[in-house]
Amino acid sequence: MRPADSARNGNFRQKGRMSTPRAKPKYYLTTPLYYTNGLPHIGHTYSTIVADVIRRYKRMRGFDVFMTTGADEHGVNVERSAQKAGKSPQEFSTEISVQWKRLWDELGIPGDEFIRTTDEKHHRTVQWLFKRCRDNGYIVKGHYTGQYCVHDNAYVVDAGPGDPCPDCGRPTETVTEENYFFKLSEFQQKLLDFYAANPEFIQPESRRNEVLSFVNGGLKNLSITRTTIRWGIPVPGEAPHVFYVWFDALIGYLSAVGGPNFDQRGLWPADLHLVGKEIIRFHAVYWPAFLMAADLPLPRQIWAHGWLLFDSEKMSKSRGNVVRPRPIVGALGIEPLRFYLLREIVFGQDGSFSYDALVTRYNSDLANGLGNLASRTLTMIERYFGGEIPKPAPEQGGETDAPGTAEFANEALTKIMHLYDRLNFSQALESIWEIVGMIDKYISVEKPWALAEKPEDRARLASVLYTSAEGLRIVTALAHPVLPQATQKIWSQLGQTEPLSGVQLDLLSWGQLRPGTKTGKPEGIFPRVDKSETIARIEAMEQEQNKTPMPPTAAAASTPAGPGVAAAPAVATAAKIGIEDFAKVEMRVGQVKTAERVAGADRLLQLQVDIGDEVRQIVAGLALVYKPEDLVGRKVVVVTNLQPRKLRGVESNGMIVAASLPDGAPVLAGFLEDVPVGAKLK
Ligand SMILES: [Zn+2]
Repeated sequence: MRPADSARNGNFRQKGRMSTPRAKPKYYLTTPLYYTNGLPHIGHTYSTIVADVIRRYKRMRGFDVFMTTGADEHGVNVERSAQKAGKSPQEFSTEISVQWKRLWDELGIPGDEFIRTTDEKHHRTVQWLFKRCRDNGYIVKGHYTGQYCVHDNAYVVDAGPGDPCPDCGRPTETVTEENYFFKLSEFQQKLLDFYAANPEFIQPESRRNEVLSFVNGGLKNLSITRTTIRWGIPVPGEAPHVFYVWFDALIGYLSAVGGPNFDQRGLWPADLHLVGKEIIRFHAVYWPAFLMAADLPLPRQIWAHGWLLFDSEKMSKSRGNVVRPRPIVGALGIEPLRFYLLREIVFGQDGSFSYDALVTRYNSDLANGLGNLASRTLTMIERYFGGEIPKPAPEQGGETDAPGTAEFANEALTKIMHLYDRLNFSQALESIWEIVGMIDKYISVEKPWALAEKPEDRARLASVLYTSAEGLRIVTALAHPVLPQATQKIWSQLGQTEPLSGVQLDLLSWGQLRPGTKTGKPEGIFPRVDKSETIARIEAMEQEQNKTPMPPTAAAASTPAGPGVAAAPAVATAAKIGIEDFAKVEMRVGQVKTAERVAGADRLLQLQVDIGDEVRQIVAGLALVYKPEDLVGRKVVVVTNLQPRKLRGVESNGMIVAASLPDGAPVLAGFLEDVPVGAKLK
């Protein structure tokens, strides 16, 4: 039974259905509301691309689709990051929200609504939902006791009395504050009954099991307000209480489609919440409990996807392997990225991201696969039939298996739609590309270029090219949700005038391509690229991008991640570093033993520097200012734990610290007092 059906028979009325009837069934889906403590990376991009693919697919299945994405802007982490940046929380989170929205626009995945938790309509919705829960007896006042860091103005989760703050190392204090609590404990059995009646509510299965065992373990009441945070939605008439994490961002899905007036829009309940696996509990436990408490319809399904690992490692700033979308899109375009993410990663599981695999996939499936099939088919139709779809000859009992039998095509269509319905994108694409491969093989076996040489094979030639073009048309329609622009181009080149996005997949069948249709000029869709050159371009753009400063982020360790925190770990370049980062750099007093110029390099000197327990060879850009002989005997500051690297073929094992003047001239750091060689700097 679907959640909606059970709701109709149970306590939770289907208010969304009381609206005026729609011409088409509605389908409402959401991405997480991303936390504006940092900027989007490839993990967030993946969530949003998946939502966009579902949105386009559902439209082609006849649904009136609405997609919400947005930003979770409240909480202590934003408050602290704003403070570090010298901005008000509102200013800070607006700046970041704008960047998120701009990126989705740029990538063509904006959704229909970008809800911000700072929007007035969201505030109203949260306050309204709170009142409904309270009126129904599910809110109580109580006391929350936890370990608090006064310096960071934040609770430290899972700390005991006297434990140090993981951020600043200062001892935490035990603090008790008055909070409002949501009576989550009363929903254990109701939730278990609901999951049992709606076995597909939580997907995939592994996540469902995880949630079941969590709920079976018993539910504690949930603190939903704070008096120690300022940056949040005020609890009406209860200053200084503001709503805390859970009872804020989740509600954005409802605020986006009418909030208290959701009846009028007719979009609620959501058909699908797409989330990262780390936030499944909030969506599958807290959120339905809030809605039950407020007597509102429940979402129909929560789907959790996995994490993107980079070359099999978790992306993290400290590993320096955080992938962002712009350089990839700059080098290859958005569609290859969409295709790669959906084809390569089994939706719901963790997946590995690598540039090598991305470019390999591009060349094999897009350039040599679909792109090549489109170009050879259209080129031959232009050459042999003057750019008109030929009329296939009646069955000739040909010796090859044509891929284009009606049964075959219709079976494939049904199978592929079923895979899309199950959000099994990788297999759906695999199946579509099997057809691409079949048509390609068919062309190679039939050799239309040879048939074209004999007038008596004209009818056979027409059949072969009709079959290829019709196969291409069907493949193009099926791949449209993933490759919206490229498929539209091929579709137009096949002479189809109706926009591809308006085609209904249920009505698609073999033989609809009309002979005599004028085809367009064949043009390359996916040019083949050189792998190493493309990866080098992506990496160069990445470095360029990393030079532009990004908003600082506060460490998120001490407070629970908001429901909006997406997929992979939140990351951004911090303007300030903690002492532990500084402590990673080892610096020592060194003394220059010898110095000579590096042949062919005006600026470089090759030095032998004594750092106490060893003599290091270091290449330094000092030659325009310092003569080699003036440096011998001089004490310098050496960074001793840098990775060795080669400059002009000479290995450099360390770095000499110098000030850099505006014209780039170096001035060596030194000491006024005498210091022993090898002394450490702290
Ligand atoms: Zn602290």
